[in-house]
Amino acid sequence: MIYLDNSATTRPFDSVIKAVSENMAADFGNASSLHKMGINAEKVIKDAKSTILGKLGTDGNIIFTSGATESSNTILFGVPKAYKHNGKRIVTTSFEHPSVANPLRKLEEQGYEIVRVRPPKRSEPQDFEQRIIDAVDENTLLVSVMWVNNETGFIADISKIYSAVKRKNPKTIVHCDAVQGFCKLPAKTLRADLISLSAHKIHGPKGIGALYCAKGVRFEPLLYGGGQQGGIRSGTEPVDMIAGFAEAVRSYPDCTEKYAELNGRLCDKLAALENVTINSYGNAKNILNFSVRGVRSEIMLHFLEEREIYVSSGSACSKGKTSGVLAEFGVSDKDADCAIRVSFSPFTSESDIDALAGGIADGITRFRR
Ligand code: PLP
Repeated sequence: MIYLDNSATTRPFDSVIKAVSENMAADFGNASSLHKMGINAEKVIKDAKSTILGKLGTDGNIIFTSGATESSNTILFGVPKAYKHNGKRIVTTSFEHPSVANPLRKLEEQGYEIVRVRPPKRSEPQDFEQRIIDAVDENTLLVSVMWVNNETGFIADISKIYSAVKRKNPKTIVHCDAVQGFCKLPAKTLRADLISLSAHKIHGPKGIGALYCAKGVRFEPLLYGGGQQGGIRSGTEPVDMIAGFAEAVRSYPDCTEKYAELNGRLCDKLAALENVTINSYGNAKNILNFSVRGVRSEIMLHFLEEREIYVSSGSACSKGKTSGVLAEFGVSDKDADCAIRVSFSPFTSESDIDALAGGIADGITRFRR
């Protein structure tokens, strides 16, 4: 089996499975309990927080959530309630994941002004961050920009955006959906007041995520209940999943060079095929989006699946729908219809890339009209 759909989700590391099951078996206490079992559970949570903060290379708070969708929803609805007098303008991009784009649509219906900055053209990658910064004014409550786009791999310079936004309007809160960059890009290039993270994209369990919150940043909770996690996120903490999340963070190796090599190898092989165009630019090297003109994505996807090679058409979240995000990156509807996204993991090998390229070449021979 060759799994090249790691932007959709990842195979949990063996060490993660071990950490989760050991925790379930031995440390299953409720972190709110006053006895030793509760104290042990609380310690697991505390250690996991410091592991994640250590990886981010910053201080502040970590709140555990059910995933990045909840993290982003929490702050997108909670920040406006906590800072009612900071304005009604929110600056974002036109290519956010639905977990950010859809809450922002709701806020737009409620009267917030949502400014969606488009990605740069392939020929002028430099101007994107500046256009975000230019869109910020004295009424800008929030900036929300994703670190790495899940469909094309496009990387935004979040540190640059953060510093410039704070210089322009220190009251503006900066949020980043860092799901696709966390553990894959150097954390020192990520700076934001609020950061959404997800464990299942880094070989951790599904259904557990985190929200990083810088000191002093406030928002109203999305969930009210037993007051766990300082009242910010009620609900009994899933200590086993939290232990698994922290283990994934500890286990994810530095793949910077590996991903660059695999990406280069795949691009070279695709360049040798007729009518294959690369849609990604300015991208993280673990994600590559390309179109095989003349063969629809789903046809190619299922052809590769017969060889046990798993890729995605556009984004897994869009479930086969033609992606609006690709259009934002200048991909024509016709090419979007034929788009394939591959995404690597620490398990990906050169022979996986060769098998993929061979499969695509055979698919072209079989299906191209
Ligand atoms: N943000 C991005 C960029 C993603 O790729 C995803 C997952 O597809 C999410 C957010 C949602 O994460 P979760 O599945 O943890 O809610």
